[in-house]
Amino acid sequence: GDQKVPMSLLEKGAYINYQRIEDNLAVVRERLNRPLTLSEKILYGHLDDPVNQDIERGTSYLKLRPDRVACQDATAQMAILQFMSAGMDTAAVPTTVHCDHLIEAQVGGVKDLERAININKEVYDFLATATAKYGLGFWKPGSGIIHQIILENYAFPGGLMIGTDSHTPNAGGLGMIACGVGGADAVDVMAGLPWELKCPKVIGVNLVGKIGGWTTAKDVILKVAGILTVKGGTGAIVEYTGSGIESLSATGMATICNMGAEIGATTSLFPFNHRMVDYLNATNRPMIANYAKQFAHNLTADKNAEYDQVIEINLSELEPHINGPFTPDLATPISKLAAEAKKNNWPDEIKVALIGSCTNSSYEDMSRSASLVTEARNAGLELKSKYTITPGSEQVRATIERDGQIKAFEDVGGIVLANACGPCIGQWDRQDVKKGEPNTIVTSYNRNFTGRNDANPATHAFVASPDIVTALSFAGSLSFNPLTDSLPTPSGTPFKFSPPSGFELPPRGYDPGEDTFQPPPEDRVSVQVIVNPSSDRLQLLKPFEKWDGKDPKDLPVLIKVKGKCTTDHISAGGPWLKYRGHLENISQNCLIGAINAENGEANKVQNQLDGSWGGVPQVAAKYRDAGIKWVVVGDHNYGEGSSREHAALEPRFLGGLAIVARSFARIHETNLKKQGMLALTFVNPADYDVIKGTDKVDIKGVESFAPGKNLTLVVKHKDGSVDEIPVAHSFNEGQIEWFKAGSALNLMAAKAKS
Ligand code: SF4
Repeated sequence: GDQKVPMSLLEKGAYINYQRIEDNLAVVRERLNRPLTLSEKILYGHLDDPVNQDIERGTSYLKLRPDRVACQDATAQMAILQFMSAGMDTAAVPTTVHCDHLIEAQVGGVKDLERAININKEVYDFLATATAKYGLGFWKPGSGIIHQIILENYAFPGGLMIGTDSHTPNAGGLGMIACGVGGADAVDVMAGLPWELKCPKVIGVNLVGKIGGWTTAKDVILKVAGILTVKGGTGAIVEYTGSGIESLSATGMATICNMGAEIGATTSLFPFNHRMVDYLNATNRPMIANYAKQFAHNLTADKNAEYDQVIEINLSELEPHINGPFTPDLATPISKLAAEAKKNNWPDEIKVALIGSCTNSSYEDMSRSASLVTEARNAGLELKSKYTITPGSEQVRATIERDGQIKAFEDVGGIVLANACGPCIGQWDRQDVKKGEPNTIVTSYNRNFTGRNDANPATHAFVASPDIVTALSFAGSLSFNPLTDSLPTPSGTPFKFSPPSGFELPPRGYDPGEDTFQPPPEDRVSVQVIVNPSSDRLQLLKPFEKWDGKDPKDLPVLIKVKGKCTTDHISAGGPWLKYRGHLENISQNCLIGAINAENGEANKVQNQLDGSWGGVPQVAAKYRDAGIKWVVVGDHNYGEGSSREHAALEPRFLGGLAIVARSFARIHETNLKKQGMLALTFVNPADYDVIKGTDKVDIKGVESFAPGKNLTLVVKHKDGSVDEIPVAHSFNEGQIEWFKAGSALNLMAAKAKS
C-alpha cells in the first residue's frame, strides 16, 4: 500500500492510489454482497464516502474523487477563469490543459500552426500563464490532441479522470474510467470538491473470435454504434469483455472507447491486459504496468458480474464498416456500400479522404495506412481524392517521420496537417467545393453530424477505419470495395490491395519529437496571468453579488419561453464559441434562440420599464443596469442538451435571479445553482399558464429558504390582479449556501481566505 508509483513521469508528488480502491471495495463489497463489474470496481473504488454512499445503478448520485482533470483549449478558458475566482493557489488534483482545438487546417502542418499561434495568441498567452500560476501542466499548440497526449502520458488502468471534452473516454483503452464533463464539473474537482455522477448502468459488450485482415478496432465501434444507436448508451458505461479482447492493441481499444461518445455512453472501458502492459512499457511506464499487475484483481470484472444489457460480437465474422452520412450510427458493411450509396443517392465521388485525429492516429493506424499507400504507389496508382493525415501527437508525428510513413504519404501527394483537431472540429479552410454543393468525404474521425467538418450542410461525411479511408482515396468512389474489387493501373494489370499490415508499436521505440510540454515552474508566485484588458475573447470574471438577505420583490418576467429550450437556445454555439472566455461578449447570445410565448418570436421581448421592444440580452442588461433583477419562465426539461456552463453564467451575469420552469434538465439546474441563481419548478405544472410574459413576481419564503420547503410566487398581472402559485426547489443545505454567497465559487473563495 505504501508504494509510490507516480501517475505520470511528468508530475512530481502525484501517485497512483490502488490501495484506496482496495480499501473502498472492501467496504462496498460487504454492503452490496454481489459480484461487481469492472466499471463498478473503479467507480466505487473512488467514492468519497464508501460507508454512507447510496449505491444503485441508474438511480443514485455517486460522489467521487477523480485522480485527474484534463481540459482542451476551447473549454479550458472559462473553466480556468472560474477556478481563478475560487481564490486557491493550486489545483486540488493534477490537471493538464491542451492546445488542440483552435488550429485551422489550410495548407499543411507547419504553416497552419504558425498562423494559429498568431491568431490565438491572447488565448495561448492566457492559458500558458494561468496554468503556470496555478500549477497545471500546459501542452502547447503543436503538441497534439488532448486524448492522444493523455493516453501517452497520463492514462493508467483503474484511474478515474474527467475531461472537458466529449471524447475523454479514449483513455478507457488503458483501463481508465474517463468521462467528458462540462467546465463547471472540472472547476469543482480542481477546487477540491467531489464530482457527482449518476451511478451508471453497465452495458457489456462480449467480444469473441479474433480480429484480422481488413477488420480493425474501429469496425467494432462502428458496429456497436449501429446496434445501440446514438442514444443507446445514455446513462451507461460500456464495458468490453471476452476472449476477443486479446486480439486488440491498446491503441485499438482506445479507438473503440473514444467513439463510444457517439452512442451517448458515460464512458467505455476495457479490462487490464497484457496489451496495455505492452503500451505502458513502450511509453516508458513499466512501473505502472508492474503496479497494475499487483492489483489486477481490481482491474477486471468479477465472474458472474451482472450487466444491464449484453451484446455479443464475433470479431472473426465482423466486416469493415462505413458509417454515415450525417449520423455515426448509420452502419453499412463495406460489401453493401455501393448498393446503399446508389439506393440513397449519396454522391459517389469521394472528394476528400482524411485519416488521423484523436480517434485513429496510433502508430499502428499510420503504419497500416502507409502499407496500403506504398503498395498502391508501387503499382503506379495515384490518389483520386484529396488525402490528408492528422497525427494525434507530436510523438506520433516524429516517430512516423523517422520511420518513413510520412514520406510514403507525401510521395503520393498526401498532406500532413498539424497535430491538432483541424477538420474534425470544422477548423478547415476547405476550398474545393462551394457551400451547399452536395459532395462526399470519408474520414477516420468519430463524428459526422451535418456541417461538422466543413460547415457545408450538403457534405456527406462518412466515418471508417483509416485502412478503408486510405484505400478509398485511390478509387475516389464509394462503389469500390477494397476487399474484393480491383483498380486499373498504367501497366494494364488490375491492382488489388493486400490486407493492410503494420506495427502495433514502433519497433525502434517512440521518438518524442519536439518538446512541447510546459510544466508548472518552481516559483509560481511571481507569475503574472496575462489577460489583455482590451481583448474581445478573454475577460477576467468578477465575483457575482451575494444575496441581499430579503425576499425578492417586483421582478419582471424577462421572457416566458414556449416549448423546447435547450442549452443551445440559451447559449448558442457556432460563431459565439470564439467568445467563450469573455462572459460579457458571449452573454450577447443569452436566450436568443428561445421562443417568446407572448409573440411566438425568438429574441424579441418587451421591456417592462418603458414598453419598448428589444432583444433578450439587451432588455436583460437594461434591467440589470437599472438595478432590477428578473426571472425567466420555462417549460418542460429547461436547459436540456449539453453541460455548457455559459448557459447558467450568462443569465446570472445579466442580472437574472430565478428561472421558474415546469421541469429542468438536471445538469443545467445544478449549474444554475452553482452560479447563485434560483431554479424553481411549478408545483402544479398547469400554473405555467397562469403567468404571463408581461407579469412581475415576488418570491416569498427566500428569507427562510430551507431544503424541501416550497416557496411562493406572487404573480402580479398587468391588469392589477394577483395570483399566488406554490413553487418547489431541489436545493440542499450546501446549495442554499451557494445561493446566499452569490455563487458556489464565492463560497469557496470565502473558505479559501478564512
Ligand atoms: Fe474532438 Fe475531433 Fe479534436 Fe478528437 S480530434 S478532440 S473528436 S475535435
